[in-house]
Amino acid sequence: MSIEQLNLMRNETERMIWKAINDGRVRVVFQPVVCAKSLKTISLEALVRIESETGEMISPMVFIPAAEQSGLIRTLGQEVFRKCCEFAVSLREQQCESPRIFVNLSAKQMQDSDLYHQLVSITESFDLKLSDFGFEITESSAMEDLQIALKLMEQLRSAGALFSLDDFGTGYASLSCLSDLPLDVVKLDRSFITGITDKPVSQVIVRAVVDIASHSHLTVTAEGVETKAQCQMVQDLNVTHIQGFYFSQPLSAADTLQWLSKS
Ligand code: C2E
Ligand code: MG
Ligand code: MG
Repeated sequence: MSIEQLNLMRNETERMIWKAINDGRVRVVFQPVVCAKSLKTISLEALVRIESETGEMISPMVFIPAAEQSGLIRTLGQEVFRKCCEFAVSLREQQCESPRIFVNLSAKQMQDSDLYHQLVSITESFDLKLSDFGFEITESSAMEDLQIALKLMEQLRSAGALFSLDDFGTGYASLSCLSDLPLDVVKLDRSFITGITDKPVSQVIVRAVVDIASHSHLTVTAEGVETKAQCQMVQDLNVTHIQGFYFSQPLSAADTLQWLSKS
């Protein structure tokens, strides 16, 4: 693909994102994260979608890179956070047990020196607190500018928010992240879970991460658990929390309310 074709494609995606924001076609779905022992839902991960003009849901893998590249991630991220706040309010109104909602932050968002104030002002406008939320970051997004990331994490954690290290194990310096960053949760990447029932090395890695995490007062979430056998294995390895299609796909706000009322 030529540079011109790449640029054209990126511009088309940027236009698509911008139009979706303006037309109100940004959607947020929620995936339950359950406690490995009690199987109760303990948190929700918010995942963005764009609804196309013809009604199909477009994956974030398609548009997050272009949103980052163009700077549209700032507006898109605010829209996602507002929708999470709206949902937190509806949970409160239903007097449902309110699990903490974790929101993904990408590298560009982490470097936005105004992000903390944006988040404070949105939560206050909904009469919510930052302690109702958690944020998921990746090793690369934190390491792009460690000082800025540390400042943001300290501000948000002082306000009661939690931090998860997403896709753990896929970066270059994963272990050093555990000591350098103020974290609460480590999310083991799905690549370790996929082969966990027949790859002894995956089991050894999961066991080691659980061991390190317990010494650092971190909880460990296994991402991408799809089968009963994988679920059993991560439970046996003392993972704290489990997320994956075995329990639930990401759900619309209405379906999440129903899920919570049943669980
Ligand atoms: P992530 O944060 O690691 O999210 C987990 C992804 O794995 C989600 O894909 C989820 O639907 C998928 N997943 C969950 N359980 C399973 C399973 O059992 N099997 C399989 N095969 N997949 C599973 P999704 O929603 O397509 O999101 C992809 C990525 O896009 C996310 O990865 C995150 O990096 C990014 N993303 C999503 N929403 C947002 C957002 O609001 N803001 C930002 N900045 N990034 C986002
Ligand atoms: Mg995530
Ligand atoms: Mg992940």
